[in-house]
Amino acid sequence: GGILSGSLALLSDGVHMLSHAIAIGVALFAMWIAGREVSPERTFGYHRTEVIAALYNALFLWLISGWIFYEAFHRVSHAHLEAQGLMMFIIGVGGLIINVIVVIILHRTSGQSVNIEAAFWHVFVDLLASVGVVVSAILVWAFGWGLADLMVGVLIALLTLGSSWGLLKKVLPVLMEGTPEHVDVYRLCAAMEDVPGVTLVHDVHCWTIVAGYEVLMAHVLLDPTLPAEEVEPLLRRLRRIAKQDFDITHVTLQVEQTLEDCTEGHHVGHLEALERGKKKGILPF
Ligand SMILES: [Zn+2]
Ligand SMILES: [Zn+2]
Ligand SMILES: [Zn+2]
Repeated sequence: GGILSGSLALLSDGVHMLSHAIAIGVALFAMWIAGREVSPERTFGYHRTEVIAALYNALFLWLISGWIFYEAFHRVSHAHLEAQGLMMFIIGVGGLIINVIVVIILHRTSGQSVNIEAAFWHVFVDLLASVGVVVSAILVWAFGWGLADLMVGVLIALLTLGSSWGLLKKVLPVLMEGTPEHVDVYRLCAAMEDVPGVTLVHDVHCWTIVAGYEVLMAHVLLDPTLPAEEVEPLLRRLRRIAKQDFDITHVTLQVEQTLEDCTEGHHVGHLEALERGKKKGILPF
């Protein structure tokens, strides 16, 4: 429709709509792959395919908005502003109706996965874009104001670009192995160190495989005088703190009774851990 009527707004809205179809397809495909079993070759399973799919969708949005910006630039520099208002209007109204239907469907399935939820908000914004197309069609049709078409086209491309931001904000911290938003590493360490028998928690790594699947890895230095039979209950308590109080799915703790063979003390919170250790007077350095 965008190509037939010569309208940039329609073209912009059209590729935008196409991006939804592709995004939903990619997200569903990723969810299907993510459900595959864990194997010796993929000990984390296929969960990250959902993250990769979201990244792919975000980058695809850059691509199509770049194309629209290029088209807009091309049209301005060639004074190419004619668009057929009536045709724009008819196709625009059709797009608006489709958008309303998609919003209703997605609203019902929203909340099942990050990708579906992202797609929902995306389509909601798209509804506004469709309204913009219809408005600019009326302006072009009634007043022959071709610039309105161009402006709405660029506006939709900007919206397209903007919606990739929300996706990237969710995806990049996961890919950077960042600490999950709901976990405060210092509070977590402090809570664990408050357990009698624990002297220092260090070499803490906490990251997200995919939303809802968080992993914690840490060393726990025990009081050397702690009787052996108390180690197991203590570990159970520490695991419960991480799982229940901090909502971490997968917890691995390495128990140490001295720091002699610990070569991994160089990670997140090391300096702070060192400070805490010095205050407690249990670290040699
Ligand atoms: Zn959209
Ligand atoms: Zn480490
Ligand atoms: Zn250690």
